[in-house]
Amino acid sequence: MGPLTNRAVIRQVMEKHGFTFSKALGQNFIVNPSVCPRIAEEGGAAPGVGVIEIGAGIGVLTAELARRADKVVCIEIDSRLLPILAETLGEFQNVTIRNEDVMKADLPAIIAKEFPGMEVVVCANLPYYITSPILMSLLEQQLPIRSITVMVQREAARRICAPPGSRESGAISAAVRYYSEPRILFPVSRGSFLPAPEVDSSVIRLDVLSAPAVQVKSQETFFAVVRGAFSQRRKTILNTLSAALGLTKEELRPLLEAAGVSPGVRAEELTLPQFAAISDQLSGRAEP
Ligand code: SAM
Repeated sequence: MGPLTNRAVIRQVMEKHGFTFSKALGQNFIVNPSVCPRIAEEGGAAPGVGVIEIGAGIGVLTAELARRADKVVCIEIDSRLLPILAETLGEFQNVTIRNEDVMKADLPAIIAKEFPGMEVVVCANLPYYITSPILMSLLEQQLPIRSITVMVQREAARRICAPPGSRESGAISAAVRYYSEPRILFPVSRGSFLPAPEVDSSVIRLDVLSAPAVQVKSQETFFAVVRGAFSQRRKTILNTLSAALGLTKEELRPLLEAAGVSPGVRAEELTLPQFAAISDQLSGRAEP
């Protein structure tokens, strides 16, 4: 078989197995030969490392990961791809494909069983319809993983990696920075995929922190504050948070002041320590 980035090879494999792309499952496969080796290298696939991949497609990234890492466990929801992957990845002894939805997979159990004593990283060309839920689920579970290296839509990459205080920052960037240090690695044009999507992409890496970036009394309250604060981003923090948290402005104002936050600022101007201080003031109330 020729290279999995070759369009003729892809068409041939698809025809042989009667496979057609599912738009609903975000199936845009990589055909630019330089992209997968770079994701694998910059994502940390190396001797001694175990890789979790999300969404194998026909295995183009899986193969590059398997060439470098000790072991690859790939979670793929589409059972139609299993016979294709058996053929395209036949030469690799260190790849396991699990036919399940990553949002339902028991990742702590998979890591404990498949990667004992190994350093673990996540690498993927993510299905775009579910990018944020997947990233948040990976981070919120506080899995024993070193990093998450993923291809996402370019706009999503900017939002996810936006520094606090920047215009593009939002609930997702604050949540991501609570758990990790994000960075944009490199751009990938839409022509690098088959079929070509309508937008360009970027590969990002989230280096997972050993402990959350700020200490809070209640994570639940912290995330309620972050989500609430960005729910109406043009309004002041006093207005958005009182609406989102069901507090009167009279109740909220002294809490913001005690947290050292001016009631007139907007969410995008706040730093993580300031969100944490607001959260802790709320957690300290008799009825939060
Ligand atoms: N890795 C391949 C590549 O780069 O060419 C395929 C990437 S494609 C953008 C996304 C893949 O994720 C598809 O194979 C799709 O079937 C799979 N997928 C979609 N939703 C999923 C889910 N909830 N859980 C696991 N895999 C999923």
